[in-house]
Amino acid sequence: MFIADAHCDTLYAIAIDGKRPEECVVTPSRMAAGGVGLQTFALFAGRKGTQGTPYADGVAMLGAVPKLGVKVLTGDLPQNPPQSPTGIISCEGGEMLEGSIARLDEFQSKARLRMIALTWNFENEIGHPAKEGPKGGLKPFGFELLQAMDAYGILADTSHLNEAGFWDVCEKAELPPIASHSDCRWLCDVPRNLRKEQVKALIDRGGFIGVNFYSHFLKQDGRATMDDVVRHLDALCELGAEHIIGFGSDFDGIEVWPEGLAHPGEFGNLLDALRRRGYGEQLLADMAGMNLWRLLKRAERAAS
Ligand SMILES: [Zn+2]
Repeated sequence: MFIADAHCDTLYAIAIDGKRPEECVVTPSRMAAGGVGLQTFALFAGRKGTQGTPYADGVAMLGAVPKLGVKVLTGDLPQNPPQSPTGIISCEGGEMLEGSIARLDEFQSKARLRMIALTWNFENEIGHPAKEGPKGGLKPFGFELLQAMDAYGILADTSHLNEAGFWDVCEKAELPPIASHSDCRWLCDVPRNLRKEQVKALIDRGGFIGVNFYSHFLKQDGRATMDDVVRHLDALCELGAEHIIGFGSDFDGIEVWPEGLAHPGEFGNLLDALRRRGYGEQLLADMAGMNLWRLLKRAERAAS
């Protein structure tokens, strides 16, 4: 079964934190063992927001792409989902663009970005993060950026973005918005998770939600198990989200995860848990990878 993962921070771990590739959670051999055909590797803007050096760090992370040891697609996607470990590039934290469309052009020509998380946990030139409360929508550069992203076929990733920004994206983005690594807020009340109304808006727009494996987003006390991952997926399906959900592991960006889901080689454990829960193979295939794949293909076709 083709598995796709919408988010990991492996490039940051290698290029900025200085980890050796084989020390990372996401490795080619684990991807192969777990059946992960497509891994989204984020260029993460870093833990200092606009006070850091997000652009320079982004360039450094691009330089580390060859160290990943997997084929990274910087041209058009193949017709069919890749069966062997393959990567695509995203951006997490739009401050990396320094408020400039020219920076977007530059990253696009080098990395073929597929999604951009408009903020990380700090306010930037685009908007405001969920961590700082629901108020304060997108800024003028945010709206300008959305237009440019639509033209390039880049999906707007609302994970980390606040609610006012989320609704601005839903209103203004032509392409369906996504939340690459967020869970259900009504099951675990943290600002990084999505409210029911947000999930419904993403369903209406045909977007995507990647369930995050971070224990503190899955369960209030941070002691999440595999059952909690299933619980969040169940809750999303109850709202009718079965055709827009998948996985956004956040591997190499999180320090706690459910037992049995510690690295890409363990995706099979999650699929088995979902089978035991009664999910059929067709629905599993959609959730495991095809929902994300189809949206990526749609975004690519929409690029002008
Ligand atoms: Zn994140």
